[in-house]
This record gives sequence, C-alpha cells and structure tokens, in this order.
Amino acid sequence: MTIRALRSRWQRALVVLAAAWLLLGCGQTVDLHMPLRLYVLDCGEAQIPDISPWSPGTNEGRPMTFSNHCYLIRRAGAWMLWDSGFADALAALPGGQLGNRGMRMRRSKTLVAQLAELGLSPGDIRHLAFSHTHADHVGNANLFTRATLYMQRAEFDAAFGPEPARYGFNPAAYEKLRDNTVVRLDGDKDVFGDGSVVLLATPGHTPGHQSLLLRLPRTGAVVLSGDLAHFADNFEQRRVPGFNFDKAQSLASMERIAALVKAERAQLWLNHDSAQKARIVHSPRYYE
Ligand SMILES: [Zn+2]
Repeated sequence: MTIRALRSRWQRALVVLAAAWLLLGCGQTVDLHMPLRLYVLDCGEAQIPDISPWSPGTNEGRPMTFSNHCYLIRRAGAWMLWDSGFADALAALPGGQLGNRGMRMRRSKTLVAQLAELGLSPGDIRHLAFSHTHADHVGNANLFTRATLYMQRAEFDAAFGPEPARYGFNPAAYEKLRDNTVVRLDGDKDVFGDGSVVLLATPGHTPGHQSLLLRLPRTGAVVLSGDLAHFADNFEQRRVPGFNFDKAQSLASMERIAALVKAERAQLWLNHDSAQKARIVHSPRYYE
C-alpha cells in the first residue's frame, strides 16, 4: 500500500469518527443537506367575548376565538422553538381558565406531548426565541433552560428589569431563563447566517417585539407574526390595540412587514388568527 493510499484511508476514518462524535456526543444529527422544516403546534386557544380592545373603534361586543400556536423549526438537524403558547398546566383544567378582558383560555394538548410525538423532549431544543414576553407566548418558557435564547435588548431589559409588570409581563413564567445563554439583539438577526431563519425587529406591541422570517425550500418564505396583528382584518386595516406599548412603532412595524411580505412574496401567518389556522397544516405534518 502506498503512503498516499494509507493517508486517504486515515482521512476517511477520521471523517467517520467525527460524524460518530456528532451523532453520539451531541445527540442530534448535523446534516446541512436536511431541508429546513417547520412544524406548527397547537398551543391553545382563547375565547374572547368582545374583541374591540384589540381593534379600537370597531367590533364592539363582537366575540372571537383566538388560536395560539408554537412553531418548531428543524434546521440541519438542530431544533429551534418559536413561541411556547399557554402553560401546559392549562391542559389539566377541562373548563379552562379566565384571563384578562373576560377571555377564557384553554389548551387540549400540551407542548411537551406534541414534542414527544416527534421524538423530542424540551432538552433537545437548542435555539429559542419568543415574539414577545406576554404570558400566552412564554407560558412554557421555563422548560427550555438548555437553549440559547435570542431576545431584543429592549425586551430583555423590560422582562428581566425592575418593573416587568409595567409591560404586562409575569416573570414567574420565564424566570428560569435568566441563566440561559442569551443573545441580546439590537435589530434583525440571521440566526444561522444563511438567510434561512431571520429574526425581524418589529417593536410596538411590546418594547422588543420580533417576528420571524423563514425561507423554506418548497413552501417559500413565511413570516411568523407574533402579535404584530392578532387577526387578518386588523393587519389589513392597520389597527393597533389600545394596550400596545407604542402605537407609532406598532404601525411602522406593520408597514415594514407588509413591504417585506410583498418583496419576498411571503405568506404572513398570524399566530392568533383562528380562521387562518383552519387552513394551515399542524404537527406531526410539516412544511419544507
Ligand atoms: Zn401579546
């Protein structure tokens, strides 16, 4: 055997060893050829007796059911969670629970059970981001202490600062994340550096509200809204809920996303729009 053949055999062995290390050591397969994948999880619903606080000047006395979603993203074998819905404990209350503005919140299936259906546990989530820190988005945040958390600095300062209640935040829901690895953001962030998953700064609903742009290979671009708008008509009419943190920022963020949706020919998926929910496929089915 020549020296050259020996060397290439050694190189192949090293590649196999490295792959085995990745498989065993990290517990997750890293494969850049895996297509980007999106699972939409059912994270509860809220029956609202009067939606006019969400759409000032109209819809007086009109009831609506708001859906609540979590989104799981698989990128090259690593898992990212976007929003965590109502707390799983809610699923144990058959009649649900009363919340702000007379809403009745329910969830029929826990987030943990939906992850388990896919063979995952909360410890498998490596990347974590929330559109914002309201309880219906961070209800299960405390489960994900091993993940790297991506948060706008303004949101982080409001959530972990001295007066979280001023912003409508309840730290009990997310306080275990204080010691996570936190990437504080002052604007957009291309999470994996390849344009596939991009956090977009869309402040207004809260000080550091963000949205998420996904560029899926087959489905095309999808923007996950957070609470940029709660349902389609509010987005189209540019209505800002009276309780938003900043009205001008809220309007600017809607305009920004409207322009981006047009430029990217993206779909805008509104987390709480239950009419749209009916048209979106849910986990264990997925989008690529
Ligand atoms: Zn909110």
